[in-house]
Amino acid sequence: EAKLEGRGIYRVFEPSMGEHLHDRRQFEHDIRHAISRNEFSLVFQPQAELHSNRVFGFEALLRWDNGTRGAIAPTVFIPIAEECGAILKIGEWVLRTACAEAATWDRPLGVSVNVSAVQLHGGNLPELVEEVLKETGLDPSRLELEITESSLIKDIGRALAVLHKLKDLGVQIAMDDFGTGYSSLSNLRAFPFDKIKVDQSLVRAVDTSDEAAAVMRAVFGLARGLKLPVLAEGVETDAELSFLRAEACDEMQGYLLGRPCPIAEFAQHTSGEGKAAAPQRLRKHKLR
Ligand code: C2E
Ligand code: MG
Ligand code: MG
Ligand code: MG
Repeated sequence: EAKLEGRGIYRVFEPSMGEHLHDRRQFEHDIRHAISRNEFSLVFQPQAELHSNRVFGFEALLRWDNGTRGAIAPTVFIPIAEECGAILKIGEWVLRTACAEAATWDRPLGVSVNVSAVQLHGGNLPELVEEVLKETGLDPSRLELEITESSLIKDIGRALAVLHKLKDLGVQIAMDDFGTGYSSLSNLRAFPFDKIKVDQSLVRAVDTSDEAAAVMRAVFGLARGLKLPVLAEGVETDAELSFLRAEACDEMQGYLLGRPCPIAEFAQHTSGEGKAAAPQRLRKHKLR
């Protein structure tokens, strides 16, 4: 299972993959019918400010439980959904479901939604986002779209136009998985990002490697220069958290704070009953 959560390259070594995918057309068929069969759900993972320990929002993460195949990791099915085009409908379902959920919260917390390169380049993303915001009544400033750098470079001109249209709607835009692939400084400057999400592979390495720590410090320096807040992804240990605090990292997300769960598990954060003004604090102990 851990292998399925890592970078795409590890998937090659997952023995059950061949079995799961040998009938590729059946797999694509199942993906296309997953929405109407109610097989998708969203889990939510908390995000907190480091200086205050305040939970300010949640990332929505897609889960697929197919009756026959069981639970399938998004790192496995999203690339296939992208290749067969099903990601457009799926991405629309994710956006609508996540915004509708967030609109029910008593507290005006943020909700982050992952956007595929195919949605960015192929669909009518700004129109869809505008429609979903209207439909759900969610304040646009509470919606953050997470976009990976690799999805921008396919057609930089078009990507730039789409991101500016999204900014005009009042939504936030985060660069996801920074530090993987070919991160470029000029992209960070050229695109209207509101936040950098540093990939967990960089965060993980700071514990054991001086070089990785130096790379992270360089990222913080860069972000400061560009006046962009940094969220560290995949924070698992107290040592990682201490490093991030020492480097004045702005925000965190990871198993140390909370694993992705059905939103009901986070009712203490989303509901405002009787303590509307009380700040929501990060848990002292790990949620395992
Ligand atoms: P991502 O957007 O970078 O999401 C973070 C991933 O890291 C999630 O994996 C999350 O469960 C995992 N994670 C969070 N904290 C920790 C930690 O402390 N340790 C470890 N080892 N992992 C942690 P997940 O849910 O399996 O999703 C994997 C990727 O699939 C996501 O990476 C995203 O690229 C994609 N994905 C998930 N949901 C969607 C979606 O609705 N639409 C699109 N287009 N992509 C999605
Ligand atoms: Mg993400
Ligand atoms: Mg991602
Ligand atoms: Mg990420």
